Amino acid sequence: MSIQSINPATGDVLETFDETGDSEIERILSGARAAFQEWRRVPYATRAVHMDKAAHLLRARKTEYARVMALEMGKPLTQGEAEVDKCAWACEYYAAHAERLLAEQPRETDASRSYVRFDPLGPVLAVMPWNFPFWQVFRFAAPALMAGNVGVLKHASNVPRCAVTIEEVFRDAGFPRGVFTTALVGSSAVARLVSDPRIAAATLTGSDRAGSSIAEQAGRELKKTVLELGGSDPFVVLGDADVPAAARVAADARLVNSGQSCIAAKRFIAVEAVADDFTARFVEELKARRVGDPLARETQVGPLARVDLRDALHQQVEESLKRGAKLLLGGEIPPGKGAFYPPTALAEVDKGMAAFDEETFGPVAAVIRARDEGDAIRLANDSPFGLGASVWTRDRARAEQVASQIEAGNVFVNGLVKSDPRLPFGGVKRSGYGRELSEYGIREFVNIKTVWIA
Ligand code: NAP
Repeated sequence: MSIQSINPATGDVLETFDETGDSEIERILSGARAAFQEWRRVPYATRAVHMDKAAHLLRARKTEYARVMALEMGKPLTQGEAEVDKCAWACEYYAAHAERLLAEQPRETDASRSYVRFDPLGPVLAVMPWNFPFWQVFRFAAPALMAGNVGVLKHASNVPRCAVTIEEVFRDAGFPRGVFTTALVGSSAVARLVSDPRIAAATLTGSDRAGSSIAEQAGRELKKTVLELGGSDPFVVLGDADVPAAARVAADARLVNSGQSCIAAKRFIAVEAVADDFTARFVEELKARRVGDPLARETQVGPLARVDLRDALHQQVEESLKRGAKLLLGGEIPPGKGAFYPPTALAEVDKGMAAFDEETFGPVAAVIRARDEGDAIRLANDSPFGLGASVWTRDRARAEQVASQIEAGNVFVNGLVKSDPRLPFGGVKRSGYGRELSEYGIREFVNIKTVWIA
């Protein structure tokens, strides 16, 4: 079996990789277990030297790696460079703070001394998506490895070159053999990896369908999982919002990574008083973004990562139009090669349409009109997902009040939802469970151990 790297801008096959075979998987799993026994004893300061080295290499090779992403999954080059920088930031953050975040915590009890310590769990399987092919992996690996775990990566099947390149970063940074390895396998191999006794826990970033599947398999083995899944983030514009700013950021929020971000805003809910103004400005902003070759520095929106994903997105648009949505912009598959889809805006979107009920993973914006603030909150929460949300108002107290009522793992006021190593990241409902980043992320894959001494 082979795994192919295909350029989504042209449809050309770039490279063909052999799928990792059974004997090699065996070697990876026993190597990970053996490496863990050593790595767990390595002092934080030494782990940090390697993690800082990884950060250094990422920064030095930023453009090279951004090109790998542009060619393999269509990410515009400048966005790829920003992604690699962010990976370096996560490495530096955990290199600097892991020891403090995992320091023993003394507790006053009836013991002469009692405390909590955080021990690593072992090899963690990371099943990762193609959309931020570097960031998702480093977001998992930087805290997990600094905590003393080791990582086994099963990356998405359309980004094998990214997968082997990331393994190379860890190798070049001097991490001992087996601390981070990649298996080039399809999703059908995941069940076997999760149930292998040498794997201690698993994390998956991807669709809710894939999340349910791995949770079921891991549940059978009573293994801990962290799931970072899809979203249909609301972008709520209240009556006193700075509408031009909201419209500008709305376009960024919808088109980042060509619309293929879990925390891209997908449902734009504007209250009656500003709905027309917001919609008109938003459509103009979407129109103004430059679609094109991901390798060109001026490109803001590239192709989608695969033709089948583009076609599935178009189906969601057509289905929503059939059910009464109005097309304001885009909505046509362009002629020519590649997985391109234009920035698209739909108005009068409502429950019962794919653009409202499902995640739209591409540059398709659903515009929804709310009667008032209460109705806007109701619409924002009327989703199976609960990942991020953005709220626009000039009134800070009101913003915080609204934020407290939104069912999401992150609420950003007057700004674009983004991840940051200092802040916890994750979702509720079908967006998953567990958290990445910050102290919460690094404490997911540890044994929170109580020690009590008479
Ligand atoms: P996907 O199809 O679910 O794939 C993600 C990963 O899971 C891939 O490695 C895939 O392997 C594997 N996989 C697929 N089906 C599986 C199954 N039944 N059992 C075990 N593993 C399985 O998602 P994607 O299309 O790559 O990524 C887009 C999705 O990821 C979106 O829903 C997006 O919102 C979500 N996402 C979430 C976050 C977050 O932090 N919450 C961040 C980024 C993306 P193959 O490639 O071999 O099929």
